[in-house]
Amino acid sequence: MTEGKLKGRNVLITGGSRGIGRAIAERFYQEGAHVMVNYNSSTKAIGEMQSDMHGCEFIKADVSNRDQVSSMFNQLEEKIDTLDILVNNAGVMDVMPLEQYDDKRVRKVFDINIFGSMYSTLAAMDLIKKSSDPVIINIASNAGVGTAADNTTYYAMTKAAIAMLTKRLAFDLRESHVRVNGIAPGWIKTDMTIAGKTAVEKTNLEGLFRSRTSLSMTGEVNDIASAALFLATDDSKYMNGQILVIDGGRMDNLTHSL
Ligand code: NAP
Repeated sequence: MTEGKLKGRNVLITGGSRGIGRAIAERFYQEGAHVMVNYNSSTKAIGEMQSDMHGCEFIKADVSNRDQVSSMFNQLEEKIDTLDILVNNAGVMDVMPLEQYDDKRVRKVFDINIFGSMYSTLAAMDLIKKSSDPVIINIASNAGVGTAADNTTYYAMTKAAIAMLTKRLAFDLRESHVRVNGIAPGWIKTDMTIAGKTAVEKTNLEGLFRSRTSLSMTGEVNDIASAALFLATDDSKYMNGQILVIDGGRMDNLTHSL
């Protein structure tokens, strides 16, 4: 393991098998952290990560299932005495026009995005309070702080909940000195945004979201990993309860205040 900004820090990243979570896991590993990667179904991706990330732990659990989250933390407690950094990243999006509301599908998004972050945070309490410098990073979305996009209102609601969870956790956990901040990414090319699309659809989608930013860019997973590293270290030691919006300067905000 290399020297780095996170040397010796115990980190759990939920949904670390793909996309943004994986980029955070890899960046934190490069910075010397003892990384624990949670995943739910991507066993092949986890196999690749296992061969590259020596000394890391890989734990399967559906974060929307409280028993599985509890069991994940029981396994962690056998390996570590403290948890220094929790990254609540696991999430899903289900593109759905407002009036085509499907109760089962919407509840699944709420269960994973909101309850998953709540269950992981609650289960982490004992271990994270033992850290001398505890940090929680929640991955929200620019959709949750007022950026407009078609057919994602129910998803946006879950991310608004994550933004408020971030602010309230910073307040509720103040006596334990847990620093809690969030990241609200804009459009990042991952399975979430492009899986199942044709090459033409991908190009069109990327062009659409590029045209909505003042930087004329879409984002990459490493843009978010860099922000997560900033929030995980003393570089952000005077920040608490804040949401970093990293979206290329979107120009179609309904509001960026809560
Ligand atoms: P992604 O590529 O689809 O990856 C999602 C990750 O979440 C996977 O590692 C997946 O694990 C995990 N996951 C899903 N359901 C889970 C469950 N029930 N329990 C545990 N893990 C679960 O998505 P992404 O784009 O990287 O998104 C990561 C986070 O960023 C999400 O919270 C998302 O809402 C947020 N975000 C993304 C964008 C974007 O443009 N991509 C923008 C704003 C916010 P398995 O594959 O192992 O099941």
